Amino acid sequence: MSFSHNLNSAALVEVRGLRQSYDKAGAAPLLVLDRVDLTLRAGEIVGLLGRSGSGKSTLLRAIAGLIRPSEGEVAFCGTPVSQAPADIAMVFQSFALFPWLTVLQNVELGLEARGVAPALCRQRALAAIDLIGLDGYESAYPKELSGGMRQRVGLARALVVQPKVLLMDEPFSALDVLTAETLRTDLLDLWSEGRMPIQAMLMVTHNIEEAVLMCDRIVIFGSNPGRVIDEIRVDLAQPRDRLDPVFRALVDAIYARMT
Ligand code: ADP
Ligand code: MG
Repeated sequence: MSFSHNLNSAALVEVRGLRQSYDKAGAAPLLVLDRVDLTLRAGEIVGLLGRSGSGKSTLLRAIAGLIRPSEGEVAFCGTPVSQAPADIAMVFQSFALFPWLTVLQNVELGLEARGVAPALCRQRALAAIDLIGLDGYESAYPKELSGGMRQRVGLARALVVQPKVLLMDEPFSALDVLTAETLRTDLLDLWSEGRMPIQAMLMVTHNIEEAVLMCDRIVIFGSNPGRVIDEIRVDLAQPRDRLDPVFRALVDAIYARMT
């Protein structure tokens, strides 16, 4: 199967005027996101950079439909996300795997919860496991795997629902640099070869280099409350070269704009 990326296409995800506050016991609610506008178009990988506590994870959770916005809206292809959750999948920094389940069971779980027939669950889970390079590890438990392999399980579990949008919350930051590099490259290869149904990715990272290596566009988030303060387009061909002076200048420019 092959999926082509249709650049310059319509918005897939639209965040409009998003405000998010958390209730605090005995205190005023904490406003975490204020009037956030963000558009994710088909064919693009967008990076989200910002300080810890600026509300990046909250924004991803709102886009995934895991929390309901206090105000504003998040739409997927024009429909509020609370009604279209299968199209948006998420990968977490801490992998969020169930330790008592095997790789196969962890991957199947998301489909089973969506009422997919068991035989089809198995078939699609095995395909996702194979795609992400976990072939042969189906009956392993998470504790038997390295961090990189665990995050592959996290990716397989997201991919198995055949989402159109993949949200990744610091997906490589718990991994050593070489493992992170391998996983990043594998993911970019699957993306550029059109081997995933995913049409857009939004990735939170603290690593500016990583953002410039992977993304077409980088959104910078300000804190207190979290909001979009800047946006940078990365006009570099893939694969990107860390030693390229243009690459280095972009990393420096982004650093300067964040501080
Ligand atoms: P980031 O991912 O940028 O580090 P988060 O979205 O995790 O930011 O958190 C933003 C702010 O919201 C932080 O001050 C955090 O303590 C608070 N927060 C996050 N999740 C919750 C929650 N479930 N309940 C209350 N406060 C929360
Ligand atoms: Mg976070």
